[in-house]
Amino acid sequence: MLDSNLRTIALSVKGFMPEHEGDALFDAAMSACKALPGVPMVEVGSYCGRSTVWLGAVAKALDVVLYAVDHHGGSEENQAGWEWHDPEVVNEHGRIDTLPFFRETIRRAELTESVRECVGDSHEIGRGWLQQVALCFIDGGHARDVARGDYLAWTPHVARGGTLAIHDVFERPEDGGQAPYEEIYLPAVQSGKFVEVSRCGSLRVLRREA
Ligand code: SAH
Ligand code: MG
Repeated sequence: MLDSNLRTIALSVKGFMPEHEGDALFDAAMSACKALPGVPMVEVGSYCGRSTVWLGAVAKALDVVLYAVDHHGGSEENQAGWEWHDPEVVNEHGRIDTLPFFRETIRRAELTESVRECVGDSHEIGRGWLQQVALCFIDGGHARDVARGDYLAWTPHVARGGTLAIHDVFERPEDGGQAPYEEIYLPAVQSGKFVEVSRCGSLRVLRREA
């Protein structure tokens, strides 16, 4: 369970992770890291660090590193005029920049030793990635090509026995955008390498078996 001080911080941070799904992510990360001791975790899409608090708390408790990947320029759906735009994260140059918010969250949560910020394009970072990961949490952009790119760039790095967690998976179009479902969840399951182990809200937790 996330400790109450960190929970207060997580819930005060701007972002898109509902509390019960954050708790499910925490449990998934605990199991993943206990199964593969010392193996790091990756989060793709951190925004202001809300979900990062749940994952970072696991990283700290089990003494592993969490790499938090984001270009911090916001997704398509965060840009001005779109549904998920927040003018408070626009900097003096008129661009979205969530990095200062992310840093402040991690500092307040006292997770700077456990969380490494990886600032850049998630596809590029994933393509050059060399380590296996115990858990990869994909919560990045929801444009189809971005979701597909995250699937291609990151799922090969999930260790066998490791976990792939995907956020914003909606089987029915009336519940939400289809990209995470069609471009990440389905390809993972259909690859024969991943099996679903649990779900909570729009969070899907898969284990790599092959
Ligand atoms: N996990 C966060 C929400 C993430 S929102 C929370 O709990 O609140 C999605 C994030 O993905 C945004 O911060 C956006 O900047 C990032 N993103 C979108 N496309 C990206 C890309 N191609 N490379 C890196 N980051 C990307
Ligand atoms: Mg999300």
